[in-house]
Amino acid sequence: GAGRASRQDDGQEARRKPPTSAPVLELRGLRKSFGEHEVLRGIDLTVHRHEVICVIGASGSGKSTLLKTVNLLEGIDDGEVLLQGTDIADPRTDVDATRARIGVVFQQFNLFPHMSVLDNVTLASRRVHGIGRAEAEATAKRLLDRIGLADFAGAYPDRLSGGQQQRVAIVRAIASDPELLLLDEVTSALDPMLVGEVLDLVTELKRQGSTILMTTHEMSFARNVADRIVFLHRGEVVEQGAPADVLDRPTHPALVEFLARVH
Ligand code: ADP
Ligand code: MG
Repeated sequence: GAGRASRQDDGQEARRKPPTSAPVLELRGLRKSFGEHEVLRGIDLTVHRHEVICVIGASGSGKSTLLKTVNLLEGIDDGEVLLQGTDIADPRTDVDATRARIGVVFQQFNLFPHMSVLDNVTLASRRVHGIGRAEAEATAKRLLDRIGLADFAGAYPDRLSGGQQQRVAIVRAIASDPELLLLDEVTSALDPMLVGEVLDLVTELKRQGSTILMTTHEMSFARNVADRIVFLHRGEVVEQGAPADVLDRPTHPALVEFLARVH
């Protein structure tokens, strides 16, 4: 009856809109070492709903490791990783259920080469979220249409340019409506010509309200799109703030030096 239908609606809403006002992601005192090498040295970082945070920093500063700890690809040695207020670094956390709430795209090799574009996009929705084939494919086709790649639904990834593959990887990551999107240098492996189309898609996702934690070397993109830029130096957040403050009025010497090299 009507009561049951409305309860189901409530469930849907609850999935989309978290019931608490807790930040989507909060890192507290995060520490991670590989052997003797402490790669993350007490990271505090908060990502609120609808925010786009760009993490910048030199190669080796710990950016990828930071994102991997959030997706539970790397364990941590100390601190907390709170996703909607729940500590996912707690060993009792259901790793698969947590990962299902987060969309991830890396620098390269994101798509399964032996599966069609459509199957790539629907895989997680169907296997992880238990969404039926018809519904998953309808969503996937709508997303592919939005990025102008509907005609490639039946093609294998190697038919697509690098930029097209990354855009498919990004729509695959958002197909199951994750609470948080992690993007690790998603344009670094692309020809310069193809970078813009991928960053335009990220900009579009921000406009639609996605919450995104990303690493990038594209400073003009970070300036124009990020709500906040976080500068990581040797495993520590040494400066963060609005793009204009971080990029135009850097105070930490390491940031001054970094910006001189990337500009
Ligand atoms: P970034 O993404 O900023 O370039 P990374 O997070 O990839 O930095 O790496 C930070 C440091 O951690 C580097 O010195 C790197 O060599 C080291 N590191 C990363 N992953 C591992 C690993 N699995 N084992 C040992 N050292 C690692
Ligand atoms: Mg990296």
